[in-house]
Amino acid sequence: DISHELRLLDQAISSVRSEIRSLDEKMHDSLMAEERALFSVFLRMLDENALPAEIKELIRDGHWAQGAVRRVIEKHTALFAQMEDDYLRERVSDLKDLGRRILASLQEEDSSHRELSPDSILIGEEISTAALVELPVDNIAAIVTSEGAANSHMVIVARALGIPTVVGVTELPVNTLDDAEMIVDAYQGRVFVNPPRRLRQRYKEIQKEDEQIAKDLKQYETKEAITPDGVSVQLYVNTGLMIDVVRGVQRGAQGVGLYRSEIPFMLRERFPGEEEQRAIYRQQLSHFANKPVVMRTLDIGADKDLPYFSIEEENSALGWRGIRFTLDHPEIFSSQIRAMLKASIGLNNLHILLPMVTTVSEVEEVLYLLERDWIAVQEEEQVKITKPKIGIMVEVPSVLLQIDEFAELVDFFSVGSNDLTQYLLAVDRNNPHVANVYSHFHPSILRALTRLVKECHDHKKPISICGEMAGDPLSAILLMAMGFNTLSMSSSNILRVRKAICHVPMTDAQKLLDDVMKMNNPLIVKSWLEYYFKTHGLADMVKSNRIVNV
Ligand code: PEP
Ligand code: MG
Repeated sequence: DISHELRLLDQAISSVRSEIRSLDEKMHDSLMAEERALFSVFLRMLDENALPAEIKELIRDGHWAQGAVRRVIEKHTALFAQMEDDYLRERVSDLKDLGRRILASLQEEDSSHRELSPDSILIGEEISTAALVELPVDNIAAIVTSEGAANSHMVIVARALGIPTVVGVTELPVNTLDDAEMIVDAYQGRVFVNPPRRLRQRYKEIQKEDEQIAKDLKQYETKEAITPDGVSVQLYVNTGLMIDVVRGVQRGAQGVGLYRSEIPFMLRERFPGEEEQRAIYRQQLSHFANKPVVMRTLDIGADKDLPYFSIEEENSALGWRGIRFTLDHPEIFSSQIRAMLKASIGLNNLHILLPMVTTVSEVEEVLYLLERDWIAVQEEEQVKITKPKIGIMVEVPSVLLQIDEFAELVDFFSVGSNDLTQYLLAVDRNNPHVANVYSHFHPSILRALTRLVKECHDHKKPISICGEMAGDPLSAILLMAMGFNTLSMSSSNILRVRKAICHVPMTDAQKLLDDVMKMNNPLIVKSWLEYYFKTHGLADMVKSNRIVNV
């Protein structure tokens, strides 16, 4: 009965549409526009001319509605699965999720009332963002998937929601784990099914310690980062998603030291337009009104791929990335700069940071484009816009040797220690085989940074640091001793670093720096710092304490 099947499909599609709209509304306060972009993609797929049109064609050919849904979804997932691009491949799970919803509705199952008791671990081959957020997320203790990659959209959202997540556990027997007792150790990326009593006990202890540490750290939300001998350090937050801003404000960040503008670009299906960007940037700037917000221009290339603009390169870390890419695409750069300038109207807290700068001429070119856009936007908007301060990231070693020349052009410097470590030590930051070589405690890094701070101070140029090194309490203390007075980090590290600063006098930090500057081995440097922390009441900040050997 073709007309009956068509009617059933129409009902199912419209009920899934309203299900997704209500999900979108439900998540309105906890996820911001860019994190919810997936829902509008779903709605577009459900547009009468998209998936429903194809399904109806099959029904008219004689298929029943459920079979037609399955065929259409399978056809599309097969196409996506063949794609080389990771991001697009991962969209397969979203598509399957959408198919399941339509099917569930055709079968009159209500998928929105699944019970989930507190401390549940969510397991699946793949879990889509939509499937995750429709569940009572407060009851989810952890997420484990057998497929997926660490930069998938679901993982980004799970991280933002603070849910420990382990993905890509290839041998996970998903179908046999219902109601099994499990331990998920997202510190180490390990999963234990039906763990023996002793292991359970050990993890219970760790869990208790973690809760105790979190409770203890809470008091640092309202404290200032001042050493016992009175030296004050500014702690800023690194952001990308809106949830980072919310957490940063809650944890008392004094500004945004690095807004990774590529993150909203990554969560979209195409380059966002100028107006769309303006609205995103405005949210960031206005949440930190009266405080500095450092917005980095688009830093794509290498491991930061855009789903709709894949850059395939043999040697991508040394290739077309950061400012090299955007200067070759001045239209993309300009729309971003214009959007940032417009977003800053009346707030005046915008600072612009350039990634992957290697050569002075790159900055000269940017200054020219910026001046041009600044004049144009003021004319168009008929308002005066405060000219933003311009800074560069110190990530490429060449910059270390040309601070004099760069200081004449820019207002501030910010060290990207993640990339600086990668390039100074010639070690891929994402390659697990050489992870033992990658260390920000390497003597050459410490010496380079010490010289850099001094040079910047000589030129009276502010210098901060926004790589992971700033968020590690052990290195944060060294950075403070070197003379960095602004450290910018993920919101999850702010309280730990603040606690360390409140406990370590500057005189001790300087002594530690003197000690480690004489050492030639990163492991010894790290152990020396850990020894100090352990013997000065700061043992709970030493990460290696949390490693469980099984
Ligand atoms: C860095 O390289 O240290 C940095 C902060 O930038 P990203 O991690 O985004 O490359
Ligand atoms: Mg970098």
